[in-house]
Amino acid sequence: MIPTELVEWGASGSLIREIAEYGARCAAAVGEENVFNFSIGSPSIAPPPVVGETMLRLLQTVPHERLHAYAPAPGMPEVRERLAGYLKDSFDVPYRAEDVLMTNGSSTALALILRVLLARGGRVLTPVPFFPEYRFYAESAGGALTGVPSEPDTMQPDLCALERALEGDVQAVILNSPNNPSGAVIRRDRLNALASLLESRQEQYGHPIYLIADEPYRELVYDGIEVPFLPAIYRNTVYCYSFSKSLSLPGERIGFLALTPGMDEHDALHDAVLGVLRAYGYLCLPPLFQLTAAECIGRTSDLSIYRRNRDLIYGALCEMGYSCIHPDGAFYLFFRAPGGDAQAFCRRAMQEDLLLVPGDGFGCPDHVRLAYCTAPEKLRRSLPVFRRLAEEYHLG
Ligand code: PLP
Repeated sequence: MIPTELVEWGASGSLIREIAEYGARCAAAVGEENVFNFSIGSPSIAPPPVVGETMLRLLQTVPHERLHAYAPAPGMPEVRERLAGYLKDSFDVPYRAEDVLMTNGSSTALALILRVLLARGGRVLTPVPFFPEYRFYAESAGGALTGVPSEPDTMQPDLCALERALEGDVQAVILNSPNNPSGAVIRRDRLNALASLLESRQEQYGHPIYLIADEPYRELVYDGIEVPFLPAIYRNTVYCYSFSKSLSLPGERIGFLALTPGMDEHDALHDAVLGVLRAYGYLCLPPLFQLTAAECIGRTSDLSIYRRNRDLIYGALCEMGYSCIHPDGAFYLFFRAPGGDAQAFCRRAMQEDLLLVPGDGFGCPDHVRLAYCTAPEKLRRSLPVFRRLAEEYHLG
């Protein structure tokens, strides 16, 4: 008999994708321009020209036995070398090629490391709000995810709450900064304090407590805000990175996991991640995209449109009376659901062809997420709908 939990995991799918697909069906029926589909975090900006140029050059110059061949499971040696060198030069942490493992974006990096760390049960903590898939990765690995409240106005992690939640069964803490869905960037003083707390709890409990840095939005920050590099602050950090957002390549599924040199259990973690990959029949990432990513690391799409969108939508919604978290990064606006029930508000918005995501899956059922990685014009044209809803809910 097929295990029911597997059937349910597959059948339930991701709410965000469901809403996005509903939006696509509406667009086919009533016209793309008439649907304000702000549900999914798929970049609207084209990849920078260097991506296409690099791919064309690789296609024309790299021999087929290299470009279309099976690559080593951890990644192509020259790609790992290049990425390690980039991290070392950028953040002054002495990465080597053997610390870097190529993955299908940050999702796979997260799923793999959680499968390794929670294989014998235990919990992983993460500040609320959090990317909904974390719960799925943790539970399917045999463990559990505990969301820990953050400071409500800034969504900075609440250290006292984390301290209370950090019991002996906690294997890891996931931090996502810039954050999906709040746009918050965690400040250096918080990270330093959290690192000290983790150091002391590791000693107390006699086992490592890992930090997992989930950073697909690292480059998407506004107003010069600093995104401190966690592995430089806390040695037992597993770094998960993706080219999905920085290079606007979400469909190409390219990213990596980097183990910090000198971290506890480094070699065992490395081999266990490869072991999980092998168990799932994974062989390698496509060489064309590995090589492209290695050549384009550090480059980004033109992110200025996201900043303009951020200013436009944050300014307009605040002025209408919505209570919004100020997004310092990523491309999401998280606001308190008018009426207090995010599901009810999103259903109401849907009647106006305005598609938003209720915060339930992010651990905040009283908040709503708006993805502003969209054409500025569409965002502007949606404002009368937001205004109508604001009046209906007596905001302001
Ligand atoms: N982590 C966060 C916080 C995200 O928002 C996303 C995607 O939206 C991911 C991880 C996964 O991204 P990818 O697998 O494309 O790198």
